[in-house]
Amino acid sequence: MLIELTELLPFQEGTREYPVSYEGRTVLSYAVSSAPEFVLRIVHTRGNSFQIGGEGSLTLRIPCARCLELTEQTILFTLDRSFDLESGLDADGDECGFLTDKLLDTDRLILDEAVMNLPARVLCREDCKGLCERCGANLNEGPCSCGERETPTRMADAIMAAMNAAKKKK
Ligand SMILES: [Zn+2]
Ligand SMILES: [Zn+2]
Repeated sequence: MLIELTELLPFQEGTREYPVSYEGRTVLSYAVSSAPEFVLRIVHTRGNSFQIGGEGSLTLRIPCARCLELTEQTILFTLDRSFDLESGLDADGDECGFLTDKLLDTDRLILDEAVMNLPARVLCREDCKGLCERCGANLNEGPCSCGERETPTRMADAIMAAMNAAKKKK
């Protein structure tokens, strides 16, 4: 959604509230499975200064770092930004990517917030067993057959047995 901020300029210290959602979009390559509507507050503090606030959440489908199974991760975020509409800079002097031609792009605002709050590493569960390195089977669904056939000790046993059998033949 794009919000025309210049419309708020005549109303000093006026607060406007907008229902905002991020439904049906993505964060990087992750699908958003749920994005409840939340209230975005915009306050025109003075001159060209604005302050925006709000609290929301997004649920994303992110693959588990070990088994690649998609897992739902909920990200909570709190918006609290101040900026100057004329310069497009925030309180730290950084460019506000969510402002274009004095329009506030709520999708960009929420995307930036979600990316900042993405978990560094996602596991489907704490003790995820991951995938078998040989056959790619998901070991959470049970052991694969490689484990039984090819453990080092069993291989060694098989080689010893073959050598013994060869010796006996001579
Ligand atoms: Zn997993
Ligand atoms: Zn395997």
